Amino acid sequence: MIKVCKFGGTSMADANAIRQVKSIIDSDSSRKFIVVSAPGKRFKNDIKITDTLYRCYDEVVECGSCAKSFAIIRERFVEIVKDLGIDLDIESILDQTENQINEIKSAGFSASRGEYLSAIVVSAFLGVEFVDAAEIIRFDSHGKLNVDYTDDKVSSRLANSERAVIPGFYGKNFQGDIMTFSRGGSDITGSIIAHGVKADLYENWTDVSGFLVCDPRLVENPKVINQITYKEVRELSYMGASVLHAEAIAPVMRKKIPINIKNTFKPEDKGTMIVPNDQYKPDANDSVITGIAGKKDFTVLLIEKSMMNSEVGFIRRVLSVVEHYDICVEHLPSGIDTLSVVVESSQLKEGVLTDLVNEIRENVKPDYVHVIENISLIATVGHGMARRTGTAATLFTALANANINIKMIDQGSSELNIIIGVNNSDYEKCINAIYNAFIK
Ligand code: ADP
Ligand code: ASP
Ligand code: MG
Repeated sequence: MIKVCKFGGTSMADANAIRQVKSIIDSDSSRKFIVVSAPGKRFKNDIKITDTLYRCYDEVVECGSCAKSFAIIRERFVEIVKDLGIDLDIESILDQTENQINEIKSAGFSASRGEYLSAIVVSAFLGVEFVDAAEIIRFDSHGKLNVDYTDDKVSSRLANSERAVIPGFYGKNFQGDIMTFSRGGSDITGSIIAHGVKADLYENWTDVSGFLVCDPRLVENPKVINQITYKEVRELSYMGASVLHAEAIAPVMRKKIPINIKNTFKPEDKGTMIVPNDQYKPDANDSVITGIAGKKDFTVLLIEKSMMNSEVGFIRRVLSVVEHYDICVEHLPSGIDTLSVVVESSQLKEGVLTDLVNEIRENVKPDYVHVIENISLIATVGHGMARRTGTAATLFTALANANINIKMIDQGSSELNIIIGVNNSDYEKCINAIYNAFIK
């Protein structure tokens, strides 16, 4: 039995958390490969090490040295090493890291050092070999993971290792530069390692007792999801359930390795099992919906033209205008005479929105284009929806009762997900209304 364990930022935040990690590892000899994040927040308004490291990079660019921000990094790591009582010359390692950040002048390199230092400390504390992610995780020149090369490297390097501690979040490109995944990317590293060592289980240790039905910062005490499929997690993570990075499913999916989300601070809790469809065990207590997630700040371009459906190439022409502005489309719900193009508002930098709308007007001669801003998208996800009728009715009745105006509806043909658009100001109210309508 081989388990890969990834520990997130709160599990690395201070010496007490790291002691807790050690007791988890020591309690199960199959926990052989340990992937760690950079120290995260110790309390509500604390700053994550990764954020301070991005600040270090900005400081190097602004004034040639990261001395001011790096002092914060130094203090955190020196304190952790002292509190853990490990025999490690952390000051020399920190001196070298500070010099490298100043010399290399790269945001990715700087940000990666949180995971690097974290892994050095944990490896010394556990007495387990350190394997640098730069050796085994490879990106191409566009910053995309090179899956084949990485798979080979991970499995050949770790085949020689009984146990190892590996930093999450980063790797190297073929030119030798350190690059990172997007934020929260240590989850992806854990998944890649699990695939590479053919793990039986990928344990993802965090600060909540599993994947919850919705974000606990929006709904009070949401229920834990006992079991969920890869596909449902993809939908929820992509739509904002930040407990697991949306790209962390793909590597383990190839070998059908289940993921167990666990709480470092309540290791006795079962957490959530994330499994492929064919490993899902239906339960009489399963709710129709599995989870709810959402993201704020979208813009909807509602394009109306009568007889649009009979105009060959209409959608293609709209999309080629959007593509011309290098904008990704999030959703594309359509009616007989209407097409809504939903995009993240952050992509519409100053002036772009006006130009985009004008170009759509010129190219497809619509009856009108209506711009709706400050929209939140909320996804209600559940494989149970396909089997049971009335889910949409329950959802829309709940929103009507809560006086929430629905601006857009999009249901994928997989019947796994109903996405609605509401005003940003209704975001929290909407998630709470859906939760209360479905979860007893
Ligand atoms: P880590 O540093 O361990 O990777 P993250 O902060 O990335 O932890 O993810 C855990 C956090 O995700 C939780 O503390 C919670 O606030 C947030 N979160 C958002 N949506 C969900 C959800 N559906 N279930 C659980 N946690 C969620
Ligand atoms: N430390 C990185 C971040 O804060 C990666 C991670 O925690 O997964 O985004
Ligand atoms: Mg995370």
